[in-house]
Amino acid sequence: MNQLPQILYIEDNPDNQRLVQRVLSARGYQVVIAEDGPSGLALARTNHPTLVLVDLGIPGLDGYETTTRLRSLAHMHNVPIIALTADASPGSRERALVAGCDGYLSKPIDARVLPAQIAEFIEGRRERLPEVMETELLRSYNQKLVERLEARVRELTLANAQLQDLDRMKDQFLATLSHELRTPLTSLLGYLELFDRGMLGPLTPQQEEAVRVMRRSSEVLARQLNNLLYFQEVRSRSLNFVQLQPLDILRPLIAAARERATQAQLQFDVLISEMQPIEVDRSAFEHLIRNLLDNAFQYTKPGGRVRFIARDEPTRLIIRVEDTGIGIPAGEHEKIFLPFYQVDHSLAREHPGSGLGLAIVRHILEAHGGQIALRSAPGEGSAFTVAIPRRQVVSE
Ligand code: ADP
Repeated sequence: MNQLPQILYIEDNPDNQRLVQRVLSARGYQVVIAEDGPSGLALARTNHPTLVLVDLGIPGLDGYETTTRLRSLAHMHNVPIIALTADASPGSRERALVAGCDGYLSKPIDARVLPAQIAEFIEGRRERLPEVMETELLRSYNQKLVERLEARVRELTLANAQLQDLDRMKDQFLATLSHELRTPLTSLLGYLELFDRGMLGPLTPQQEEAVRVMRRSSEVLARQLNNLLYFQEVRSRSLNFVQLQPLDILRPLIAAARERATQAQLQFDVLISEMQPIEVDRSAFEHLIRNLLDNAFQYTKPGGRVRFIARDEPTRLIIRVEDTGIGIPAGEHEKIFLPFYQVDHSLAREHPGSGLGLAIVRHILEAHGGQIALRSAPGEGSAFTVAIPRRQVVSE
């Protein structure tokens, strides 16, 4: 195999990139460009270049540090690395050599002599420092590296503290906002329900329909707000495990789901067996079931079917929520459990949502030592199965 010798050129300046590319390609070299140190290192790992040209003044990981890292790669021990620099200050050549370079070319690049210089290095030319000088320079190079590292650690620690402050502010803002919105929404929902039940006087059929639409929209809003509030809360509080009979929680949720199924023209089947008490956090358990049911209703078109199955096993409770809805592509099965993730995240999407429901479900299951499995494909519906241990093991 007769491969062209490959030159890896690490340089951020486009004019120099173009010049070197043009001059060396004309001489039969293949030139690969990296914009900065880290991408140069990545390319060196995969490409095994014949020679590396590195600009010492690149931002971030500078040319000296990049060279030192390149040298530490096993296959780069004997590959010539040549520094290119506009820095003509005394000692800069020595610093390049001590960092691991084999040669030093100053800028501006002289296009007439560059190919010959490159060829010399490929054929074996190496510049070396006298040994005494090298030890001394190595010491001061190491010192500089440690100082740079220390400054970076300080910067990152500060940036991290600022990010944590921002994160706390964001949490506070979300909590305040959702509280402020929930209070008026609760009275809105209350009155809409009174209208809907005919308790505030008779309504014309059009008014009835309008009230129903308003009620459905307000319920969607309430669900999003609840999830937002719960998402804030569940991450900051510890769970309060109590022994309870699962049916006490499930019955009212199922009754509400039946009503919703009728409104949404869906068939709703329930399969529940006798159940032993279970140790869970009451509101977390409620939230978990409600979110799975809400999703099943939300993503299933009228005429479809939702099935709720709860089964007792000796050491755990199994709950399965199945639907004949739109389904979820395999590539999304993991991602939908991430906070704020939605399969269709366009603003024009058909289904309202915040992408928090399943993140909460997963969080709750983790806190209970439980698991979730998903079987779903587009157009074939979805089945979410959760397993919750009957007893919580308290770790010391
Ligand atoms: P939300 O429903 O508020 O967008 P979730 O975290 O509950 O957020 O769900 C994340 C995403 O997973 C949804 O946006 C939707 O794309 C997908 N999804 C969840 N449940 C179902 C389901 N039963 N059928 C189809 N898609 C679903």
